[in-house]
Amino acid sequence: MMIKRCERCGRETHFVEKCAFCNKYVCRSCEHAAKNIRKVRRIVICKTCFGDAAKMKKYENMK
Ligand SMILES: [Zn+2]
Ligand SMILES: [Zn+2]
Repeated sequence: MMIKRCERCGRETHFVEKCAFCNKYVCRSCEHAAKNIRKVRRIVICKTCFGDAAKMKKYENMK
């Protein structure tokens, strides 16, 4: 597997996921939370976006 770089902290990692709110690829430690919606779509929110009240609220309202 290729080494990827976290777009939030710059760390090199094998595992990144895209934040649904800022569209950055973030590593595990930058992910604030993630959830699966209807078992088809995984929604990730990074720590930066979780600090944004509007985005955090949107995340919490996603089902
Ligand atoms: Zn990171
Ligand atoms: Zn984000």
